[in-house]
Amino acid sequence: MVQQQPHDAGVFQPAQILVALRNKLTGRNVKVEFTISIEDSIYKTNRFGNWNLNQHLQKIQNRQNESVEIQLHLTPADWDDTIWGGDDPSSWGEEIPENRMPKEMYRPVTVTVEMQNNNPQSIYASNSRNLAILNPESKPDQIGEDVWNAALNSISDARNPRILILLQPIWIKAQRFSSRSGTVQSPTLVVVHHTGGQHINSAIYHFTGENARSSAHYIIDRDGQIIKMVMNSKCAWHAGGRRGSYWGGKDHVNHFSIGIEIVHADGSDGNNPFTEEQYGALISLIRNLQRRYSIPRHRVVGHSDVAIPPSHNCPGPNFDWRRLEDEGLGLRPDLNLMISLNPDDFPIKCNSNNPLIKELINDLKEIGYHLPENPSDSEIATAINRFKRHFLAGSRRPRDVSWNRATNGDNVDFNVAQMIKAVRNYVAPLK
Ligand SMILES: [Zn+2]
Repeated sequence: MVQQQPHDAGVFQPAQILVALRNKLTGRNVKVEFTISIEDSIYKTNRFGNWNLNQHLQKIQNRQNESVEIQLHLTPADWDDTIWGGDDPSSWGEEIPENRMPKEMYRPVTVTVEMQNNNPQSIYASNSRNLAILNPESKPDQIGEDVWNAALNSISDARNPRILILLQPIWIKAQRFSSRSGTVQSPTLVVVHHTGGQHINSAIYHFTGENARSSAHYIIDRDGQIIKMVMNSKCAWHAGGRRGSYWGGKDHVNHFSIGIEIVHADGSDGNNPFTEEQYGALISLIRNLQRRYSIPRHRVVGHSDVAIPPSHNCPGPNFDWRRLEDEGLGLRPDLNLMISLNPDDFPIKCNSNNPLIKELINDLKEIGYHLPENPSDSEIATAINRFKRHFLAGSRRPRDVSWNRATNGDNVDFNVAQMIKAVRNYVAPLK
């Protein structure tokens, strides 16, 4: 047992930590409250500015031999449970006028310091997600700077106290977005993306930079934490503009969709799974959006489904669409209906004169894919390959050929043709 060092009255470390935290957070959209419990007494602060810290410290120091618990609760200053539904992103409302939105909001954090005889016994910080955090190793940026500053030394034992407190953003306003087209009442499609990077920082950095050219409504971090960056009522720039995107008879997908980015590096040749937490968060977010906007259940697609430029690989080969299909979300094959294809007819070339190809073109159109009137052979191949990037990804991914080989080329094999028919069977009655 190590003898505790007697504490100088001037060195009251938990209080210093709390003061430092307060100073760092002053001026941010953060409301800070202390609760200090000494035996049966509880002292609560108001918002900063209305509170005399010294007075409270005096009370603590006068009662050195008693047990003291200090709680610091950080809440976004504009937090309004009646509008925001508290800490649950799935219940975030659209009711807040944009001019009332802060630029950033952070998840509430509670810091608890336990004192005995004026010595810190323990300190821990928590939020509902265990301080899921931005990776401090990646490039600090203008949003992140204050977050890094809020990482403070604190207490693990009385003599060498350290705890890292990083604030978890829940809302960071993206640089680029626009109004939805006047004819769009509310979103009718969800588009899934992957960020192409390992850490959420680079995506946030990208979307908040002065020169940003794109944005998304949501980003889902590796641990399932959801950050919102564009209001649902606005048009985020995620899927390509008028000439760059198409789904279900309409171009300019941004105008009628919600874009969700999932933090994930490419890894088209390696096995780089999305995390369980990401699938869980994505599914609950999509369910919530569907309920809120009555988005039909099959209207959840990938960026590669809607992008006009060929060879688009997003959310890529590792994203397992079956995880959504199992929840009744998105496109899925219905293999119960009759599919009258003969395996001996395959593989076939993407040739517009082939009657089987003509049939598949109609099926793809009915599902929602882009195909111009009288498509050329290469336009047909592009549409088929968009379909492959969705339905050969994840657990359906062929193991014997590279992803590029599996999803490029101008052939259709029996397996893919059958899948096109089965997905069309699923979608047709829902339209
Ligand atoms: Zn994308």
